[in-house]
Amino acid sequence: MILPSDSRCVGILGGGQLGRLLALEAARLGYDVAIFCPEQDCPASRVAASSTIAEYENRDALRQFAMNCAVVTFEFENVPVSAVAEIEKIGVNVFPNKNALDKSQDRLTEKNFLNSIGITTGSFQEIDSSTDLEKISMAKGGFLKRRRFGYDGKGQIYVKNYRELENAWEKLSKQPAILEDRVDFAREVSIIAARSRNGQVVIYDPSENFHKDGILRNATVPANISERTSQAAREAITVLINKLEYVGVLALEFFVLGNGEVIANEFAPRVHNSGHWTPEACNVGQFEQHIRAITGLPLIPPRRYHDVEMSNLLGDSIREHIGLEGYTSYGKRAVKEDRKMGHVVTIK
Ligand code: AMP
Repeated sequence: MILPSDSRCVGILGGGQLGRLLALEAARLGYDVAIFCPEQDCPASRVAASSTIAEYENRDALRQFAMNCAVVTFEFENVPVSAVAEIEKIGVNVFPNKNALDKSQDRLTEKNFLNSIGITTGSFQEIDSSTDLEKISMAKGGFLKRRRFGYDGKGQIYVKNYRELENAWEKLSKQPAILEDRVDFAREVSIIAARSRNGQVVIYDPSENFHKDGILRNATVPANISERTSQAAREAITVLINKLEYVGVLALEFFVLGNGEVIANEFAPRVHNSGHWTPEACNVGQFEQHIRAITGLPLIPPRRYHDVEMSNLLGDSIREHIGLEGYTSYGKRAVKEDRKMGHVVTIK
């Protein structure tokens, strides 16, 4: 267990809002936080004890940063696996492990892995080359998604037929991709769990999520699903978190079919936007739980006290909410269209 009196920091790779919310919770638990990110003046740096501004490929900077850390984590899944390996080389633990990070970075690897451990995904085809493209059969519309570096609807295009698919593949610069069949879902849910260094697993109630243009807008809890569907989501994340020998908070997103069956979409090896309701509605939030897991503090079984809705504040919409009850701002300087600026949690 890392004690709050330790002079070394909890290190976080990445400087966005998730890093900021993690850093604030770490500070509350008594830990100093060191941020490593390529951008100056990022949301997380401004609430941390120290920051390293450098590229993830800068090995010297990574080593210097890690020497000051008792443990390191990351706040987004596109941190290069090589950066994690560099930190581990000097004997500092990085949680979650790089296997989980690696699998989540590539949609094809991720989906194959989920299926291999008995978690059903929608059907998909691989498109790595023009030859693969020619072999594609399309019975219905689908989502062409870049295998790597997509987020918030970026790097993916909905296509109705083969002609559109060809154009979309060009638009994605012919990068390795997958074509997912469109899933005719009744609703979307996600579930968040945490696993400790000694294998304790705790799980939050699933949330029902509403997306527009691939971006999460709202999450409500409880989700409008049956107990059987909820149990299926719990079982899936338990299998996943244990198979990955994971430490920290993990999120798994699903499509729920009309018959209540769950189809996994993707997982995120980090705290998750659809879990932003947890600090306000539960005895312990996802950010605290993650810091507990990586520092070796005991996990707290979550108890939800309230029904709740979380709404993302994108772009200019933040202006109408400044200072209102349940509001969190990420402290971003520049307002851009569809940029996640903050969120509001409404207790029902
Ligand atoms: P993703 O980046 O995979 O999380 O996709 C973002 C959102 O796009 C999802 O939450 C869905 O609303 C929608 N979407 C993505 N893939 C599919 C699919 N295969 N079928 C139906 N909707 C999808």
